[in-house]
Amino acid sequence: MFVGHYSVAFAARSERNRIPLWVLFIAVQFLDYVWATLVLLGIEKLRVIKGFTAGSMLDSYFHPYSHSLIAAILWSSIAAIGYKPLCSWLGYAYGKSAALIVGFAVFSHWILDLIAHPRDLAIYDNTWKVGFGLWNYRDPEFALEIGLLGVGIMLYLTRNVLSAARKTAVIAFGIVLVVIQIGDTYVPRTPLSDKATAMGVWVFYTLFVVVAFLIEKIVSRRQTNTP
Ligand SMILES: [Zn+2]
Repeated sequence: MFVGHYSVAFAARSERNRIPLWVLFIAVQFLDYVWATLVLLGIEKLRVIKGFTAGSMLDSYFHPYSHSLIAAILWSSIAAIGYKPLCSWLGYAYGKSAALIVGFAVFSHWILDLIAHPRDLAIYDNTWKVGFGLWNYRDPEFALEIGLLGVGIMLYLTRNVLSAARKTAVIAFGIVLVVIQIGDTYVPRTPLSDKATAMGVWVFYTLFVVVAFLIEKIVSRRQTNTP
């Protein structure tokens, strides 16, 4: 699962909880941030194999600290607890239900990975592996990613008060994400090394976080500045 994760970020943001979209963008990919970091450190193991599944080249044969069910629950709890200090540090409005939503957003990553991944998600440690393996079916997996993203963006557009500029920016961002998913699913490429793949995750995911930040900050600032 790739851009489908962002559907949860878009869907979770509302005028009531006021969770910044960029925070949710980190939350829904939090487990992959942990994973990419641990792969770079050589602690978690990854093989990149052409044609490993129809829709992905990633053979994550050892990732218990980022992607086991127990680890996912722990990281989600840490995120929910960490949301309060983050808000007071950055001066964001804080609410208990918002903290819960952030925790669920982190956990949603595991649920969506469970659908897409082959049996590589451990329940705990590196044992009892599960995964429904939708990645073995390229078109349905792609359709699910795009379908989820579409629903998420639609919810974002209806649950938030948005200027026309911000609406356009969100839709444009959605289209960019679809294009990136098309490239990821359908454009053949030579497999990168495990470390390069993890680096790519850091770079691309962070780029998306920056865009999510800019969509809510710059566009709304421009809006307030207009007389
Ligand atoms: Zn993942």
